Amino acid sequence: GARIGILGGGQLGRMLAMAAGKIGLSPAILDPAPGAPAGQVAPLTVADWADAEALARFAASVDVVTYEFENIPEAALDAIEAVAPLHPPRRALAVSQDRLVEKEFLASLGLSTAPFAPVDDAASLQAALERIGTPAILKSRRLGYDGKGQARLSGAEDAASALEAMGGAPAILEGFVEFSCEISVIAARGADGAVAAFDPGENRHEDGILRRTRVPADIRPGLAADAVLLAGRILNALDYVGVLGVELFVTPAGLVVNEIAPRVHNSGHWTQAGCLVDQFEQHIRAVAGWPLGDGTRHSDVEMENLIGDDMERVPRLLSEGADLHLYGKAQTRPGRKMGHVNRLIRHPGT
Ligand code: ATP
Ligand code: MG
Ligand code: MG
Repeated sequence: GARIGILGGGQLGRMLAMAAGKIGLSPAILDPAPGAPAGQVAPLTVADWADAEALARFAASVDVVTYEFENIPEAALDAIEAVAPLHPPRRALAVSQDRLVEKEFLASLGLSTAPFAPVDDAASLQAALERIGTPAILKSRRLGYDGKGQARLSGAEDAASALEAMGGAPAILEGFVEFSCEISVIAARGADGAVAAFDPGENRHEDGILRRTRVPADIRPGLAADAVLLAGRILNALDYVGVLGVELFVTPAGLVVNEIAPRVHNSGHWTQAGCLVDQFEQHIRAVAGWPLGDGTRHSDVEMENLIGDDMERVPRLLSEGADLHLYGKAQTRPGRKMGHVNRLIRHPGT
């Protein structure tokens, strides 16, 4: 079977590796850390992103390379792409690595985003606030996740502290979107251009971190179709191969795109319990050049993340027979994603 190289050995890399194994393919992981969670389930190459030679050797040892996170340095991607095919494509990474480029790309497709403006200093923040107003969120353009690198502004008086929180990094000011709920679509595009999407899930965040995803989302049916079509437009525009996560705000005026992730996505973990072919396998199939699998949802599901001290609930969950997914991380830290649980939502009388 084909050898699938996976950049990044966190929980997403781990679950991608397990999905590859399920369909007879051979996963290999590259991560700078010797203890990377995915290294427990697949061969691990420990190499720094700056070690171009090690990256090229890794790429030469596999048939195709994919990744579990979007913040891989450009030079590392160059070293790998010189040796092996990389999916999803570079442009998807370029777009999702920088929130300003991402918003401009989405707007160029005619999709709605929060009002936004680049911020590099006090003067550009002032100008952005005059145009966008408050409440607003200042976000670092690069490297943010789980709500890190963000500062909320309830009024113009918060400008100085918000700018300080960016630590001099280029930022983007976003107008605060008044949403009724957050949903996401996990969509896939095969090497043959076929597009498929999982049903949109409804997401609850706490402290900027995804807490739960429920499917079906409690939205009117037309919106679910809008979400899927919009994801398809993004996939086609990027000539994408693999799985993509699209985070959306539901507003009275329709869907507003928050951000995209060129990879499997935490809000798609419910597919492990709700679909014959889950997001991880769908991604592996796409990057391996296989036809996409059947991602039809057969059950209503709630996924709950186990974060930090939630690990104390594991014995209880085990005794309940819960469908536990644990990432094998040695250290529990506040805010760290340690695992998740999928529960089927049973409806009385069915
Ligand atoms: P992720 O872990 O999903 O990559 P992130 O650090 O990239 O998170 P965002 O998704 O940009 O952060 O923001 C985190 C959450 O903050 C969103 O899911 C949403 O709840 C809220 N949020 C972000 N931007 C806005 C906005 N412009 N208006 C309203 N709420 C927002
Ligand atoms: Mg993000
Ligand atoms: Mg997000």
